[in-house]
Formats: sequence, structure tokens, C-alpha cells
Amino acid sequence: MTGRKVVVVGGGIGGLASAVALHRRGWDVEVFERAPAFTEVGAGLSLWPNALRALVALGLADRVRALGETDTANGVRDRAGRWLTRADNDELRRRYGWPLVVVHRADLVRVLVEALPSGSLRPASPVLAVRQDSGQAVVVHGAGQSPADLVVGADGIHSGVRLGSWPGAAPPRYAGYTAWRMVTDPLPEARSGGAVTWGRGERFGYTSLPAGRAYCFATATTQAGGAGKGDAASTHADVLDRFGNWPDPIPALLAAVPASAVLRHDMYDLPPLSTYVNGRVALVGDAAHAMTPNLGQGACQALEDAVTLAGCTAATADVRAGLSAYDRLRRPRTQTLARRSARLGAAGQWSWPPAVLLRDLAIRLIPDAAPLHARAGGVSVLGWTPPDAVDITAALEPGR
Ligand SMILES: Cc1cc2nc3c(=O)[nH]c(=O)nc-3n(C[C@H](O)[C@H](O)[C@H](O)COP(=O)(O)OP(=O)(O)OC[C@H]3O[C@@H](n4cnc5c(N)ncnc54)[C@H](O)[C@@H]3O)c2cc1C
Repeated sequence: MTGRKVVVVGGGIGGLASAVALHRRGWDVEVFERAPAFTEVGAGLSLWPNALRALVALGLADRVRALGETDTANGVRDRAGRWLTRADNDELRRRYGWPLVVVHRADLVRVLVEALPSGSLRPASPVLAVRQDSGQAVVVHGAGQSPADLVVGADGIHSGVRLGSWPGAAPPRYAGYTAWRMVTDPLPEARSGGAVTWGRGERFGYTSLPAGRAYCFATATTQAGGAGKGDAASTHADVLDRFGNWPDPIPALLAAVPASAVLRHDMYDLPPLSTYVNGRVALVGDAAHAMTPNLGQGACQALEDAVTLAGCTAATADVRAGLSAYDRLRRPRTQTLARRSARLGAAGQWSWPPAVLLRDLAIRLIPDAAPLHARAGGVSVLGWTPPDAVDITAALEPGR
């Protein structure tokens, strides 16, 4: 089944990973990205064992792991800095074969880009529309039109592909809080591991990155619309004002954050879609199932999508049948995780003192990372492996 052409709309983690996975299966790939370059925001990214297994399928796991930090013992603390629960990365490694790896996003994107033929990448090329006529798909862009056997909509939470081909889909909904992300300069003192501190209506997390840096993230309950307002200095000042007196090492970490390095985005997720495919168009990543970041699984799921999409479309010459199997394998799992993440985030943002007290007590009693050790879509979240021939055949022929 060589000679098939796929156009990927969006060159973020989901789009690039899909392009790599399909290229490895013999597809002729072309990736359109509206930004002038293929890169990512200045922030860290947690890659859990399920994502590492997707990267194994792409032949990239060892490279990504070498670029990331695995000394990421972690846990949850209360606002006074007392540990409520602690996580052990060695235990994760023993149980799931891979540890949690934290990478700089730009490093992951670079590895994905380098795995693609350079001629397949089209930066500064916004896609204007996707059409489907008489059994073929056509992608319309600034330089003309590209016909394709398959179009992958990997254009993020505000996906234009979704808007055009899923006209009835509900828009993203505000989760009730905003998030800041920042990477420190190399820290003066060596430190490792991380923690998330849960306050009242606010949270602050940090974890180590290679080269002595740390990745920090924070949330606060606010009205929608604050992100994007104000300059870099006022965004930095806002974070210092809110979190500068939180328990150690938070003040020292914030002191090592350059004023220009603080990103702020309001948090949204996507109401569940009834399908991820329409004819020859498939949605992956945030375009299909944008979730709040509370489980650190959004990009991990995009990597799983990529590998599953390539596996399903390789199993049959009928692209539409392959896409139906992809939808069956991916939708229940990703929508379960999106719901779970939303619930966790809502509890994380509680501010009424009695509720916070009860929540903190509950965290002490619940086994560490319980939502990730549970199952989603019939498979353990962290124990996911790429679908094999039996899984794909069952998804291709669900009635049998
Ligand atoms: C605060 C925060 C923390 C997070 N932490 C984690 C974590 O630790 N672990 C984890 O797994 N996930 C995490 N996530 C989720 C993760 O960032 C996303 O799920 C993931 O980046 C989605 O990738 P994507 O490729 O689907 O979409 P995007 O990254 O949004 O990429 C979409 C791309 O499409 C391009 N595009 C859009 N429209 C067009 C067009 N018309 N033509 C051409 N190109 C277009 C955009 O420019 C962009 O490059 C976090 C998210 C947030 C907000």
C-alpha cells in the first residue's frame, strides 16, 4: 500500500508524530504549519510510560529519553509545604518498563522534525480549507491545493479542520482557571525532583529539566480572557506576587525565571466529539480531544493517536475503514481521560477551606497517581501498548 498521500494540517507534537508514524508505514507525507518554523513554546512536558511506548513505535524513545530528565521524584504538598503524597519514579520504571521523562518541548519537536524528510515540511503555510469531493480530499493552502488520500487534522484545540468538517461540534469550554508556565535559567545549586503544591484556588508545580534548569507551572482560578493581556513584565510580576511567598524552593525557582520566560494561557477543554473521523479526514491530538493539563496526558495521548492511526491505516487498503478502526480505538480512552482530568483540575482549584481540608486529607489516603494507574478505554493509562494485529482486526470488524 505504498504511494498513498497524507496531508497533515498542523506541525505540533500530534501532527509531527502522525507524520513520522505514517511515513514509517510508507505514506508520502506533507505537513503544513502556519507558524514560520516548526518549534514549540518554552516549557517542559511530562512524558509518561505510555508515551514512551508510542515513541518506541516511532523509533525515537531512546533519543527523547536521553534529552529529558528522569530524576523526577515527585508528589503533592499542601499550601504549608507538607507532603500529602510522594511518587517514586523507580516504581514507575519497575511497574511499566519506563520512567516519567520530562523534556523541553522544543527538544521533542526537534527529534520529530529530524525523523521526517525535510522536503515534507511546509512552514509558514496556513491551511485555509479542507474539501472532500467524489471520494478524494483536497487541502487548500496559500500556495494552491494538495489532493490527499488522507488528511490529518492536527491543528490544535481551536482546529479549523474540525470547524470546517464537524460543523455541529461544540466549541472548547473554559475550565475556570488560567495557567502559567516557565523554564528557569540554570539554578545556582544542584537540585532534583519536583512537587505540586495545592493551595486554595491556586497550585504551583515544578520539576527538574536537564542542564540544571527547572520547569515550573502554576494555576489560579480567574475569569477567562486575562491571558494575553499585559506585557511580559506584568505577567512575570503577577506570578511573583501570587507565588513568591509559597514554601521553599518556590521563591528560589521564581528568582531564576527570566522576566520574558513566563507564558500564560487560559485553560480550555473540548466537549466530547461523536467521532474523530469524517470521510478521509481524521482528527488527532488537541483537535480531537483537548484536555486540561492536570494528568499531563494531552501530548502523550497525541503520540498514542499517531501510532494507532498509522497502524489502523496500514492494516487495510480502505482508508475509511482504517479510520473507523482508529476512531473506535481512540475515542473512549481519550474522552475518559479528558473527563478525569477535568474532575481532578476542578478539585485542585477548590478554595472553600473545609473542602480544601477534606481534599488534602483524601490525597493522603489515595494511592499516588491513582488516576494514571487506573484504566481508560479498557487499558491501563500508563500500561498502554500500540494496538497489535488482533486489536486492529477487532476494531476493523466490530460486529464479528
Ligand atoms: C499548561 C499546560 C501543560 C501541559 N502539560 C502537559 C504535559 O506535561 N504532558 C502532556 O502530555 N501534555 C501536556 N499538555 C498538553 C499538550 O501540550 C497538548 O495536548 C499537545 O501539545 C497538543 O499537541 P497538538 O499537536 O495536538 O496541538 P498543538 O500543539 O496546538 O499544535 C497545533 C499546531 O497546528 C498549527 N495550526 C493551527 N491551525 C493551522 C492551520 N490552519 N494551518 C496550519 N497549521 C495550523 C499551530 O500553529 C500548531 O503548531 C499541557 C498543556 C498545557 C496547556
